[in-house]
Parts: sequence; structure tokens; C-alpha cells
Amino acid sequence: MKIIHAVKEMQNIAGLWQREGKSVGFVPTMGALHKGHLSLLRKARAENERVALSIFVNPAQFGPGEDYLRYPRPLQRDTNMAKSAGVDIVFNPKAGELYPEFFSTWVEAPALAKGLCGPFRPGHFRGVATIVAKLFNIVRPGRAYFGMKDYQQLKIIERMTSDLNFPVKIVPCPTVRESDGLAMSSRNAYLSQAQRATAAKIFETLQSGRSLIESNKLKSPENLISLLRRRLQNSGIRKIDYVAVAHPETLDDLKSLKKPLVIVIAVWIGKTRLIDNICLK
Ligand code: AMP
Repeated sequence: MKIIHAVKEMQNIAGLWQREGKSVGFVPTMGALHKGHLSLLRKARAENERVALSIFVNPAQFGPGEDYLRYPRPLQRDTNMAKSAGVDIVFNPKAGELYPEFFSTWVEAPALAKGLCGPFRPGHFRGVATIVAKLFNIVRPGRAYFGMKDYQQLKIIERMTSDLNFPVKIVPCPTVRESDGLAMSSRNAYLSQAQRATAAKIFETLQSGRSLIESNKLKSPENLISLLRRRLQNSGIRKIDYVAVAHPETLDDLKSLKKPLVIVIAVWIGKTRLIDNICLK
């Protein structure tokens, strides 16, 4: 396994792989790897001849006052995990090389970014779409692997890839969870023991949402949303950014509880913002 910092060197290797006709799987991450990331890497390893992992804490997707500076960066641990997952290349570029002076080109998918996390994190999805487009151009994968935990991000990347004709197949991967259901996230490391226990209520709430829908007793999404909000509040979660019932493709709010749908939650536990979702087909 090789660790590469320079864009040019990554491009050279991508060019070589292309000339050799190798299939390339790519997993973009911000590092602080956990079993969720590993599941993406394992799938990439199983489906491709070459696997590239990027580790880059992308400043463009953090708003002012967000956790860019304190985001965990355990590079040695990450590279050990990458090696054991069979990664060929770890691409760990410097922010200054990806965003040099005078950088001014951005990728946006406003129709999908306008709801859910969009209003709470202005500029976030523009930062995500831009860095993923740049990384696709540098790594030139045939397949790229994204987690369903970040559902809105996944839909924006799918849209961007299709709209801009990137020759990349986006592979959605199921959310990997702790034994109590909490979706694995690099940000879980910020939680105290008591907060960690509270965090498990997010998935419990999503599951109760699923049961309520399947019981056919509810009249409307508003009805469901207010029940779920109350459940979160009763679990000690004081700050709820949103609970939403959305169409799984357009991400628009639904007017009825007809499937397919996705229930999406974003809450704060102390100073940590956590998101999760559940899809009902
Ligand atoms: P991040 O490093 O948080 O930007 O995540 C990198 C990729 O891993 C994204 O595609 C995430 O959706 C995915 N991911 C993060 N957490 C999980 C999880 N618990 N299960 C599956 N995929 C995940």
C-alpha cells in the first residue's frame, strides 16, 4: 500500500491504472476510519482490481463555527486500517493543493440541497459536491462507494455524477451500526458516556417511526413527525434540527405516508450534531 500526498502523483497512478485496463474502486472519506468506512472498502476490494481511499478533511464543507479544526485526524491508525482492508493507495492531499489561491469553481445541486441539512449547513453540500467532483477527476474511478448514513449526500453525489457525465458508477452502501443501533460516525468519538447512551435513541426513534407507519394508524407525515419529535425530546434530546419524511429520490417533504419514503433525523447531543435515516421501500 502506498500513501500519496501530491495530486500529480495520484493522477499519474490513475493514468497508469487506466492504461493497464484495471477496474478502480474509490472510497472518499474524511478519515478517523471506523467499521462503516471499512464496509465500503471491503465492497470496493471485492468488486475492483485496484482500490483507492482518500482521507481529506475538506475545509469547503465546514461552516464557520463547525468542527473543522477539532475533527479527528488519526492518520497512522487510519493507514493501518486501510492496509488491513487491502487498500492499494491512500490519497491524503493537502488543503492548500486542492484549494489554491484564486480557486473559484463550485459544483452545486440546489434542488437536492435545499431541504433537510441544507438550510442548517449553508454551503455544506456545495463543498461536498465540489470535492467529490475534483477527486473523481484525480482518481478516475469506475466505481465509487458512499454510505446511506449520509442519505442526502448520497443523492446529491448520484445527481452530480449523472448531470456532469462522470463515467463513475455510484455504489450505495448500507449504514453500519453499533450494537445498540447508533449509526457509526467519526463524530461519535466526541460523545461522553451519558451522551453516547442518549445517541442510541435516534435509531430507536427511526425504528418506532417505521412501526408506526406499518401499523397504518397515522393520518399524515405531520402526525408522525410530531410523535417522533416528542419521542426524541423525552429521550433527553433538546435540540432537534429536523425530523422529516421525504421522497427517497427528490428528497421533497411527503404529503402522505405512502411508501417509498425515507425518515430523516438531525439532532444535537451537546455540541455534537448527529444524523441518521431509515428507508421504507
Ligand atoms: P466521512 O468520512 O464521514 O465523510 O464518510 C465517508 C464515507 O463513509 C461516506 O460515504 C459516508 O456515508 C460513509 N459512512 C460513514 N459512516 C458510515 C456508516 N456508519 N455506515 C456506512 N457508511 C458510512
